[in-house]
Amino acid sequence: MDNIQDIVDKLKTPSNIAIITHRNPDGDAIGSSLGLKLFLDQGPHKCDVILPSEFPKVFHYLPEIDGATVYDLEKDKTKQILKHADIIFCLDFNSLDRIDPLALDINESDAYKVMIDHHIDPEPFADWYMSDTESSSTCELIYRFIELLDDKNKSVSVDIATCLFTGILTDTGSFKYATNPEVYRIASELKKIGVDDYQINDNIFNSWTARQMSILGHSLRNRLQLMPDHHAGIISLTKADYQKYQIARGDTEGLVNYILMIKGMKVAAFIREMPHGEIRLSLRSKGEISVQDLARTHFSGGGHKNASGGSSTDSLEDTIAKFKEVLPAFL
Ligand code: 5GP
Ligand code: MN
Repeated sequence: MDNIQDIVDKLKTPSNIAIITHRNPDGDAIGSSLGLKLFLDQGPHKCDVILPSEFPKVFHYLPEIDGATVYDLEKDKTKQILKHADIIFCLDFNSLDRIDPLALDINESDAYKVMIDHHIDPEPFADWYMSDTESSSTCELIYRFIELLDDKNKSVSVDIATCLFTGILTDTGSFKYATNPEVYRIASELKKIGVDDYQINDNIFNSWTARQMSILGHSLRNRLQLMPDHHAGIISLTKADYQKYQIARGDTEGLVNYILMIKGMKVAAFIREMPHGEIRLSLRSKGEISVQDLARTHFSGGGHKNASGGSSTDSLEDTIAKFKEVLPAFL
């Protein structure tokens, strides 16, 4: 981490602050961005949150989420915010391809750029870094960042706690993985502040529609292939599945984890042919097997050791065949 005093000094001047996170934002991306915004909004700044693409409906309960600017819906407004920013916070991503096509706007901006993130191999595009791959989530890092700022004029409200708890909960799968002693300490602090953790859990995890249930049923019944010799499983969805089940962003969130619920499974892949034809992969693993390596080496992606993602320009069948072919070398 860079010297905290540098950013403390920067934040003494009233600034236009843009907070941007990755495309297809998840609970951690959105929670960290809104949590930091609500904190910095206490003065003397003007803060805007930018989401490159739309957010899953399940996160509608988050305070001020409707104030976020979605690039895909408001391109000019997004570019104006970035153009006038004095400081740009880049949260929950570490490579500019994750905010396509806004990379150019970030590169060309004279703003002071801050990266707060927990993915492997950060790109050198920022001026100030808090990059920690041991942390559970960017929300955990934002809480630590707030503590380090030690600004007596600001406090962590229940709304901020709700945002940060959300990202911790989603990135740790409700404290099932990627945990560390700090994240339990911070969860405890957030609960003391008054976060309604039961309600947040209910909002996120008990909000399925019947259609989402049927997508899960179809995926497990008809689209799951196991490779028991390699302790691996694949769920694949075709473009036709997307059409037939009207699958939207967020409907397949968490699907890949079901594979790891089968005893003995150590690697899980969810490979899908998106409606516009792109092939996307979500990879998960247990223990020392690095799906980050696998995604980076073969599928133009990255992420974390046990949770990564990527894409492919091959057909769905060829991508599945490639996954099966390259997997053994990673075990
Ligand atoms: P998910 O499978 O949930 O989309 O992503 C799992 C993890 O991999 C996330 O931490 C995400 O940031 C990372 N990830 C997903 N897709 C990509 C990608 O295309 N490139 C990189 N570098 N990371 C990705
Ligand atoms: Mn994250």
